[in-house]
Amino acid sequence: MSLQLIVGPPNSGRAGEILTRLRAALDRDPLLVVPTGDDIARFERDLCADGHAAIGATIRTFGSLTDEIALATAADVPPPLTAPQRLALVRAATAATPLRLLSRSARSTGFASALDLLIGELQAALVSPADLRAASVAAEGGELELEIAGLYGAYESLRDGAGRSDAGSAAVRAAAALRATPGAWGKRPVFVYGFDDLTESQLELLELLAAGADVTVAVNYADRKALAARATLLARLRDEFGAVTVADLGFDPDYTRQRSLRHIDRQLFEAGVETVPPDDGLQLLESAGSRGEAEAVGLEIGRLLDAGVEPHDIVVALRRPSVDGPLFAAVLRELGVPAALEAELPLSATAVGRSLIALCRAAGDDGEPGDLLAHLRADPSVAPGAVDWLERAVARREAGSVEELAGRWETPPVHLSRIQEAGGPSARVLALAGAARRVAEAVHAETAPLAGERPNGTPLAPVELRAGVAAAELLEELALVGALPDCPEPDLADAEEALEAAGVRAWRGSSEGRVRILSPYRVRAGQARYLFCAAMQEGVFPGRGAIDPLLGEESRARLGISALRRQEQSDEERYLFHVCASRPVDRLYLSWRSSDEDGHPAARSPFVDEVLDLIGSDPEAAEKALKRTRTLAQAVPSAREATTPRALARAVTLGTGRDGERGREALSALGVDLAVTGDVLALTSGIPDPGAKPGPLSNPRVLAAMKERRLLSANSLEGWIQCSYQWFVDHELAPQRLEPEADPLWLGGMVHAALDRLYAKPPGEDAIPRPGDVRAWKARFNELLDAVVDESESPRTPDRRLGLARLRIQVEGFLDAEAEGTTVLRPRADLLERGFGFGEEDADDPGELRLGEFALRGRIDRIDVEPGGNRAVLRDYKTSKAVPGVRTIANEGKLQLQLYMLVVRERLGLDPIGGLYQPLGAYGDKRPRGMVRRSECGDDGLFRGLDISVKGDALDDEEFEDALEGARARAIGNGERMRAGDITRDPLGGVCSEYCTFQPICRLERALGLDEETKNGE
Ligand code: SF4
Repeated sequence: MSLQLIVGPPNSGRAGEILTRLRAALDRDPLLVVPTGDDIARFERDLCADGHAAIGATIRTFGSLTDEIALATAADVPPPLTAPQRLALVRAATAATPLRLLSRSARSTGFASALDLLIGELQAALVSPADLRAASVAAEGGELELEIAGLYGAYESLRDGAGRSDAGSAAVRAAAALRATPGAWGKRPVFVYGFDDLTESQLELLELLAAGADVTVAVNYADRKALAARATLLARLRDEFGAVTVADLGFDPDYTRQRSLRHIDRQLFEAGVETVPPDDGLQLLESAGSRGEAEAVGLEIGRLLDAGVEPHDIVVALRRPSVDGPLFAAVLRELGVPAALEAELPLSATAVGRSLIALCRAAGDDGEPGDLLAHLRADPSVAPGAVDWLERAVARREAGSVEELAGRWETPPVHLSRIQEAGGPSARVLALAGAARRVAEAVHAETAPLAGERPNGTPLAPVELRAGVAAAELLEELALVGALPDCPEPDLADAEEALEAAGVRAWRGSSEGRVRILSPYRVRAGQARYLFCAAMQEGVFPGRGAIDPLLGEESRARLGISALRRQEQSDEERYLFHVCASRPVDRLYLSWRSSDEDGHPAARSPFVDEVLDLIGSDPEAAEKALKRTRTLAQAVPSAREATTPRALARAVTLGTGRDGERGREALSALGVDLAVTGDVLALTSGIPDPGAKPGPLSNPRVLAAMKERRLLSANSLEGWIQCSYQWFVDHELAPQRLEPEADPLWLGGMVHAALDRLYAKPPGEDAIPRPGDVRAWKARFNELLDAVVDESESPRTPDRRLGLARLRIQVEGFLDAEAEGTTVLRPRADLLERGFGFGEEDADDPGELRLGEFALRGRIDRIDVEPGGNRAVLRDYKTSKAVPGVRTIANEGKLQLQLYMLVVRERLGLDPIGGLYQPLGAYGDKRPRGMVRRSECGDDGLFRGLDISVKGDALDDEEFEDALEGARARAIGNGERMRAGDITRDPLGGVCSEYCTFQPICRLERALGLDEETKNGE
C-alpha cells in the first residue's frame, strides 16, 4: 500500500478526481478527510449529485480521523478535556510554575489563551516539553523558551494527572496504537482533500495509515509564483514520505468562458507575461468609506439577483471576515439580500457577551458602577430608561459603588443578585451560566419569533441566542474544573477570561439560497459564479500575518526546530489572493475604499495592480474602463439601485432628475403619494416628511390641558419668549439630564434661603446691616448658609463646596456695601420671599396678578419700602456676575421685574419706584441694575444713599409706566399663544441661545440655521 498524490493547480479538477476515486472505492469503506464541517456537507452533496446515494463512504475532519483510528486500534485514549477545562488547566499550570521573564505577562488577561494556542501548535508539530526544553538549553539565550517549556510540561502533567486527553495526546496515542498494530486499520482507503498544509502529527498519521492502506492526498500545486506557498508540502510528501504522483492534472481552460479570468488564474504574479483585453469577467469597485464599500457591493449583488442569479452563486471574500464581515452582512440584510457570514465572531462582539463580561466584573471584588451599567445596557431585556436613571445617579456621584447603585433599584438587578447570593466560586460561575441563557432569551420571552420577524419590536438576532448558549455551555464546563485534581475552583475572573477568549459562529446551518461571506481559506473549497474580493486595502490584503506573543519568529529561529518555522507570509498572501481570483466562473469583482468615512485617503491593495498588469495594453485605461466609483456624496442608493421600499423612499426624498422621477413612479405604485412644488419634493402620505418643522401642538387632549392652565410664572413666560420650542422641551417634555443639576441653580437656592432667613431675623438693631454690626450679619449669614446646605439632600460635591466658599465672600461683600449705604429704604419683614397667587397655601397671599384669561404667580425676593410711606423698590438676588439693565430687559424679552412691580402696585397697594437685580456674583461693579423712576434719582429722591448704577437704567415716569404696561401686554400675548399650543422654532431675534442643546429634538440644523431656512421659503 502507498501514499499517493493527485497534483494540480486550481481549476484542474482535483475535487472531481478525488470523487471519482472515492466512488470507485465504495466497496472498501473509503474515508475522505476534509478541513471543515462545511466541506463535509459540500462533498456529501457532490457525491449524491447524480441522484444516487453514495452508500459506503465516510467523510470526516482530521480530528474525527484520530477518533476513527483510536476506535480501530482500540487505543487507550482518556476522555477529552473541553476547551474551558483545557484553558483552566493552562491557568493552573501557570500559577504552579515559577516564572521570572514571563512573571509579569503571566498575570495579564489573555496570557492563558495565548499559551493554550501555543501548546496546541507545539503538540501538532510533535514537539514535546522535553524536546522544547532540550532545544531551549541548546539555544543561546533560550531562558524565555525554557520557561515556556516548563509551562508546557506543567500543563501536560496536570492533564495526565486528571486522567484526560486533548487533541495532541489523542493523536499521539492513536499513532502509537497504529504503530503497534499496523493491521488494525485494514485496507480501508483514505483520501485527503483541501489541506494547504499538514502538521507533523497529521503527516505521521497518514504515513502510518499508508503502511497498510492506500492513502491519496490531493495537493493544490503547479510551478507558479502564486502557488509557491504549497511547494514545501509537495516536496515533503514526495521526498520524506515517499509519496508517488498518481495523477498530475493540467489546467482546464474550459472552466470559464471569460478570457480575463483564465488569464488571471494562469498568470497572476508571473513576470513578463502578455496581457488580454478587458472583458466582462472583471469589474472594479472603488468606494468612499467602509459603509459605502459594503453598499456598493450590496447594490452590485442586487443587480445580479435582479438578473436572475441565485444568491448561493455569489460569494464575498474578505481577508478578515470576523472584522469586516459584520458590516457587509448588516448592509446586505438592510438591502434585503439573504446572506450568511461564515465567520467566528468574538463572544465579546455580541450584546450577550458584552453583558456577561461586564456582569463578571460588576460582581467581582473590584467591580465598579460602570461595569453594572455596561451589563444592563447590553442586556436587551432591561428597559433603557431604567438604566438611564442609574447612569444619572452615577454621573451625579450619588452612587459610588456597585452596591449603592444596585440599591437604588426597587428590585436589584436579578443576575447580579443571583451571583452575589451563590455559595462559592463554582456556584457563582454556574449562576453566570444561568444568566447567559436568560440574557439571550429574555427579550423574546413568551413570544415565538421567526427569523427576521419583530413580534415585540426587537429583531431576532440568532447570533445572540447562539452566543447565550455558547457562553452558558462554556461556563457550565468551566464550573466543573474544580473537580479535576490540582485545579483550583474557577471564579469570576476565570469566567471573564474564558468569555473574552471565546467565539461564536455568526452563521450556522446551510448557506443554500444565501450569498456567502467568508475568508479565502473557505473560498478555496469550491467555485462561485460571481466572487467579490472586498476590503482590498493595503495592510489588510496582503495581511501582515499574526505574531505569536509568546514564541516570536526570532525565538523559533533560535530553537532550530523546523516544524515550528512559519511560511513566508508574502507567499501565503499571494496564494490566498490567487485562491480568490481563480474561483469565479463568470466574474471577479475587486472592491476597495479610496477613503475612510471622513474622507481621509486610504491606499488600495497592491494586488489590484497585479491584476491590472494582466489586462489591456494600458493598465490606467483598463482601470478606467472597468471601474465603478461610489463617492461620499452618494450617501444613499439612487432610486434605480434601491432594493427595498425604504431605500427607494430615501432615494426619492434626496434624489433629483430622472432618478427621482423613476422613484416617484415606483413609490406611487406602492401607495405613497408625493407632492412636488418647484424643486421641492414632499411625501404627502405613507412616509413622514423628514423635513417637517415641529409644532404647533395638535393633539386635542394636550391642547385642552394647555388651555386649562390658568396660572403661569414670569420665569415660564420669559422662557417662552426666548424660544417657544425650547420652552416646550425644557418645561413640558422636561428631559432629565444625566449630569448633576446645574450648580448655579443649586447655589442660588441655598443663598436665597440663607438671605431670606437673615433679613427675616436681623442680627442687629436695624433691618439692614450697619457699619457697627456688619460682622454679626456676616457671621449669621454663614451660620444660616451652613444650616440650609445641611438641610439640602443634594450631594455636596467638591465643585459645590468651592462655589459656596466663593459665594460666602461675595455675599459678605454685598453686606459690607449695604452697611456703607445711607438709604432710608428698608426691607419689610412681611414682604421677604413674598409669594403671590398660591392661594390657600399662604393666608397672607395677596393674590395673583390677572393677565386676561390667565394669571401670574410667583415669589418676590425682597421689597424695600420708605419709612412711613408706600413707595417701594423691588429687589431680586442673582448669583450671576452680570445683570441686565433697562435696555437689555427690553431687548431680551425680560418681564419679571415689570410684572412683579405690577404685583407690588395692584396686589400689595404700594407704589413701585423701581426694580433692581442684585448681582451677588459680580467681581467688579457690584451695584444693582434694573429699571428705576428718574424722578427718584435726584438728591431728594428715594434712591439717594442707595449705591445703584442708574446710568441708562432710569426712565421718565411715562416711559416707566409704558414699560410696565408693555410687559403686561407682552405677557398676555405670549401667555395666550402658550395656552393655544402655538409652539414653533422662534428663537428671540432669530438667533438660538448658545446654551440651547435641543437641536436634536427641535431638528434644527445648526449648520443651516434659521436664516437659511427662511431663505428657502420656510
Ligand atoms: S435650537 Fe433654536 S430653535 Fe431649537 S429649541 Fe433651541 S432655541 Fe429653539
